[in-house]
Amino acid sequence: MDTQAVKHAVQHSGRYNRKGFESPTKRAKALGDSYQSDLIGSIRENDFSFEEGRLKIKLAKSFGFCWGVERAVAMAYETRRHYPNEGIWMTNEIIHNPSVNNHLNRMNVKIISTKNGIKDFSSVSKGDVVILPAFGATVQEMQLLHEKKCQIIDTTCPWVSKVWHTVEKHKKHTFTSIIHGKYKHEETLATRSFAGDYLVVFDLAEAEYVSNYIKGNGDKNKFMNKFAKACSNGFDPDIHLERLGVANQTTMLKSETEAIGKLFEKTLLTKYGPAKINDHFLAFNTICDATEERQDAMFSLVDEDLDILVVIGGFNSSNTTHLQEIAITNNIESFHIDISDRISVENNSICHKPLESELILKKNFIPDGEVKVGITSGASTPDKVVADVIEKLIAITK
Ligand code: SF4
Repeated sequence: MDTQAVKHAVQHSGRYNRKGFESPTKRAKALGDSYQSDLIGSIRENDFSFEEGRLKIKLAKSFGFCWGVERAVAMAYETRRHYPNEGIWMTNEIIHNPSVNNHLNRMNVKIISTKNGIKDFSSVSKGDVVILPAFGATVQEMQLLHEKKCQIIDTTCPWVSKVWHTVEKHKKHTFTSIIHGKYKHEETLATRSFAGDYLVVFDLAEAEYVSNYIKGNGDKNKFMNKFAKACSNGFDPDIHLERLGVANQTTMLKSETEAIGKLFEKTLLTKYGPAKINDHFLAFNTICDATEERQDAMFSLVDEDLDILVVIGGFNSSNTTHLQEIAITNNIESFHIDISDRISVENNSICHKPLESELILKKNFIPDGEVKVGITSGASTPDKVVADVIEKLIAITK
């Protein structure tokens, strides 16, 4: 598929909008009324610290809604105001946050349903309005919506578009894109749709496996079994690992993306020599600023003398999961929750999700005596949700 041609046709159809409908002031006010919190504002002004009775709270210096998410959510709300009576769909959750998605659902902005893992666009009719979420949509979905003559409201974050440009560049120069990400994540699915030849690696361990193969230490069948769902059609590791470009899902752990880039650069440098490295390796850091800032703030937060840490964000939110990983790596007892209802004040308990595990209940999670709690939240989490969590901690420690 000529992805550039599809994008051009969609964007010049007269049924495409990526700017929204309202002034920045009106947009900021509408969002502030729904999601901001005076409590969080005052904690920010107090050097991100709060104390009451035996409870001390330290907030990460960068947390919560990022620019791209704010913009996407605001555009979704103003789309409903602009089209009060039309059918409005989203190709996916606008962001990974249950309170935001429930709010939009109450405004009759529906998510396109999925049958057996495949999206069912049959309910979307000509003239319907379809919102593409902050992490984008696949080029095939864009084409389908274009053919159905839908109004497309594109809230794709510019940082995500930047990744698409990167893999398009790899494709143009016949480099294979090594995408550091989760192969099933919606953002990576969209990036894959714009790439030419590609391989998705989840972490440094998978990158090392690929590096070993490049060095001649692998078995082709085992390789293909391992990456069967994470590579382009017709991928052949004996052909497609000679010229590599690196890109990533915008919300991965920055330090790991950098390590993966360096690993492939070193591997190809050893194999082809310094004179030819530019013919075989292209690096490009596509981690977004907001993700980087939140990860850096989390590295500072874990240096505080914390008793426990609460990480707030959707369970399927990649950037939130990486914040939780930082807490675990630093051996701090931490609890990942998505909404404040996971905390019971009466029982001093928290229903939380450890990494790669189902929800579990922890009783007496706030210890007796003085307690210092670190708190952070992912880029899709409104301040109001963080404030609700803090209110519950205050109630437990009263
Ligand atoms: S986390 Fe980064 S890429 Fe994702 S919406 Fe926010 S700014 Fe954009």
